[in-house]
Amino acid sequence: MSKVENQSILAGACFPAAEVLFDQLADAVYLIDPESSRIIWANRKAWESLGLSRDDVLDHSVLSLQMDVHGLPQWSEIAAAIRDTECFRFIGRHRHREGHELAVEVNTTHFELEGRGYFLSVARDITRRVALEDSTPSREKQLWFALNEAVDGLWDWDVPTGVLFFSPQLKRMLGYGPDEMAPVLETWSDNLHPDDAAGVMAVLQAHLKGKRSRFEAEYRIRNRNGHYIWVQDRGRVCEYGPDGEPTRVVGMVQDISTRKHMEQQLQMLASSDMLTGLANRYQGTTFLKSQTELCQRLGLPLGLAFIDIDNFKTINDLHGHLTGDRVLQDVGRAVKGAVRGADLVCRWGGEEFIVIAPNTTLEQMALVAEKLRLAVLNDLACDAPPVTVSVGVASSAGSLIDLEALMASADAALYRAKEKGRNRVELAPGD
Ligand code: GH3
Ligand code: MG
Ligand code: MG
Repeated sequence: MSKVENQSILAGACFPAAEVLFDQLADAVYLIDPESSRIIWANRKAWESLGLSRDDVLDHSVLSLQMDVHGLPQWSEIAAAIRDTECFRFIGRHRHREGHELAVEVNTTHFELEGRGYFLSVARDITRRVALEDSTPSREKQLWFALNEAVDGLWDWDVPTGVLFFSPQLKRMLGYGPDEMAPVLETWSDNLHPDDAAGVMAVLQAHLKGKRSRFEAEYRIRNRNGHYIWVQDRGRVCEYGPDGEPTRVVGMVQDISTRKHMEQQLQMLASSDMLTGLANRYQGTTFLKSQTELCQRLGLPLGLAFIDIDNFKTINDLHGHLTGDRVLQDVGRAVKGAVRGADLVCRWGGEEFIVIAPNTTLEQMALVAEKLRLAVLNDLACDAPPVTVSVGVASSAGSLIDLEALMASADAALYRAKEKGRNRVELAPGD
């Protein structure tokens, strides 16, 4: 939505008069587009507290301002939660133009105006409140305060009673206010990601039983808006009962979502092809090497299929590059659907794919190749231009695998398939 359009919405709804009043408020107010999370309008406190101008703030969205929201899918989940409640409260951090964070408590309501939905967020700067919560006089509390500064949250578990104290920082990290999160073990354990819960509990038990010197785990935990964040959690038993059983465990938690997110992005970029989502040439090469070694060690054949889309340049020329890209995606999907789960389909480059099939003889590989050729021929989206592929197939025989020679013979077979008229499978001579 353009800025001009935003202003006309505000004008139509008598906002000019309201705007003067809103500018007197001590809290920041944002009008937000629920779909994109873009800021449609904001009062003076909002743009001033972020170090922005009235105009600059309209170039922002919740995604760019709120440090705890990463990406549109997460925003969509939050938007659904906002629509579900009368007033949605979230404790989070806003990003100031100069890079530092502001602790904020945000109350968001939703409403409709002339058939369009809007979110209205009121953000209160709680930096001072947070500092007060933290400034406690006793020595132990001072220690906690100092520790709290070093990490994102602390917990203190009284094992016999099951009472689990969460520091205000830890609550804030998960989007909760200081008066929320019942101090019981279940508040933590019920919110662990289902894929991580068993592993985390096993590590905790191992520490309680003395089999591990400390509890240390990286896992996902659900925050207030239902989204999972990644944390690193480290704890240790610090008190034992007369029977030698642990009675008190303390630990500290660090939000590592940003690091995990970057690691995942890097891993994805490094190993998968952006257009088709298949393995890229790097991952294909790594897999080829590891499977060569494995098949060699176990005395199994390694099958290869080189696939090249026929006359792909013509498809691009006649239907445009975008259609060409879609054909590449469809062919990738069709090939993947035609092979076994243990086989790797890789986009080798341009309009060429390879299938790496461990424990597959030349005859079996020929069947796989024919199946994928037919899948491309018959199963592509109906509005796609006619697409065919040529396939060259090879498989190692004997216990020593010469990977280069195997690839050269699959390539030579592909060349023959092209020469013989395309849309066909050719086999490398078996030896
Ligand atoms: P042949 O049957 O002999 O394989 O003919 P061909 O036209 O498929 O082969 P050629 O090597 O002449 O052309 C391949 C074309 O693939 C040229 C290149 O522009 C196109 N191409 C490579 N990568 C991409 C891509 O990512 N997207 C699109 N749309 N086209 C691509
Ligand atoms: Mg080619
Ligand atoms: Mg081609």
